[in-house]
Amino acid sequence: MVNTIGVIGLGVMGSNIALNMANNGEQVAVYNYTSDLTEKLMAKLEGQILTPYYELEAFVQSLAAPRKIFLMVTAGAAIDSVIQSLIPLLQEGDVVMDGGNSHYEDTERRYDELKAHGIGYLGIGVSGGEVGALTGPSIMPGGDLHFYNEVAPILTKIAAKADGEPCCTYIGPKGAGHFVKMVHNGIEYADMQLIAEAYTFLRGNLGLTVEEIADIFETWNAGELKSYLIEITTEILRKKDAVTGLPLVDVILDQAGQKGTGKWTSLQAIDNGIPTSIITEALFARYLSALKEERVQAQPILAGPNKRMQNLEKEQWIEYVRQALYMGKICAYAQGFTQYKMTSEIYNWNLPLKDIALIFRNGCIIRAEFLNVISEAYDEKADLANLLIAPYFADKTASYQQSLRNIVCEGIQSGVALPCLSSSLAYYDSYRTGASNANILQAQRDYFGAHTYKRNDMEGTFHTEW
Ligand code: NDP
Repeated sequence: MVNTIGVIGLGVMGSNIALNMANNGEQVAVYNYTSDLTEKLMAKLEGQILTPYYELEAFVQSLAAPRKIFLMVTAGAAIDSVIQSLIPLLQEGDVVMDGGNSHYEDTERRYDELKAHGIGYLGIGVSGGEVGALTGPSIMPGGDLHFYNEVAPILTKIAAKADGEPCCTYIGPKGAGHFVKMVHNGIEYADMQLIAEAYTFLRGNLGLTVEEIADIFETWNAGELKSYLIEITTEILRKKDAVTGLPLVDVILDQAGQKGTGKWTSLQAIDNGIPTSIITEALFARYLSALKEERVQAQPILAGPNKRMQNLEKEQWIEYVRQALYMGKICAYAQGFTQYKMTSEIYNWNLPLKDIALIFRNGCIIRAEFLNVISEAYDEKADLANLLIAPYFADKTASYQQSLRNIVCEGIQSGVALPCLSSSLAYYDSYRTGASNANILQAQRDYFGAHTYKRNDMEGTFHTEW
């Protein structure tokens, strides 16, 4: 039996990726280090479209040379362990792909190790969850271009399509693909939190019911906010709990989990001096949500604002929320794409920002109408310093910024935390401030630590005996 590709790891994602490949005409060998998952998957399949192997060596030998192996196993030590078992079985020119959420620095280390054996290693960002893996995810491959070219026909076939084009493009060398996936997830955190805050305002400040908010989101999904996250939030809000009959969201515990990619995004930004406050605020919002017991205890202890007799005109304020959400989204994506740009410069990756926006248009969790305008912005100016100053976004923020101010002010006055919306406004206002207050910081640093400062009216480095 000669198989055209092999998939290792038959969990949620791996089994669906393997089926996606088989559905697209590939002869797929599958292997899992414990036989249970393989047996379970094969029992579920009616036709014999995947070929199972229970020995790694037989699995590898069944593959046509150069061998193409796609790993979809738990990120971290499991990947290293699979790679170590594979190395003695592979030959020069074979290609190993890691489709899991590996940290891009781990990918660079593994790339170097396999390169020493002449084996290609591609770190492949895959987004789209369980369903996307089966029906077409967004795929972000990084590594050596010639190895990517070997597997490109398969990856582009299994990827989602947007306007007929595959949502898969070569991202850049070494860990670039996994880096782009990591920041994608950071942007996803911010996008999700912004939507949650819009919901909070509609529910708490405008007194709307969950059903009314679902209707509003549905309307928004027909306009410029159209996106997978708005679409699924609409469906989530319509779902009733089978036990109580209440909206299911009302019985879901308000403690958010996370698997670490948002944290990695923030850590990388902090390490490299990249301002991604909205993305990091979304991460902190999840951390704060986890302190449920403390929040419940603090509620009767800590004072809020005086009760205000504020009767907001609903239609008007719903539109303010919509515009504030769009504005927040623009700021969050501006930060994520700044992280791409600045990191690309650090590593000399030459990340194709326009194409990254294009492959996010379908398959992935942050897929949205909005990504078309981002890609147009980079098409017009590839070295754009920040999305905010692209003509489309400068015009849009000019019309929407007042709505964001209205929502954030009302949140502050009513004691409702809107961390990502507030952070978006602070970012927008900071970014458009030519003369910041960092002169005070520099003076303070020079005062207590003789750290020196520069002047805005002459060259040189100065120190004052304060
Ligand atoms: P699952 O937990 O469903 O599957 C993990 C797979 O890894 C299983 O096949 C498991 O085998 C295998 N595995 C675990 N430990 C080892 C080991 N030491 N050696 C060999 N194989 C091992 O996870 P998912 O399918 O959800 O995720 C797989 C990867 O894809 C992860 O990196 C994840 O972050 C990433 N990902 C997940 C997405 C999602 O929506 N779920 C989206 C995009 C990426 P066994 O069960 O027998 O232990």
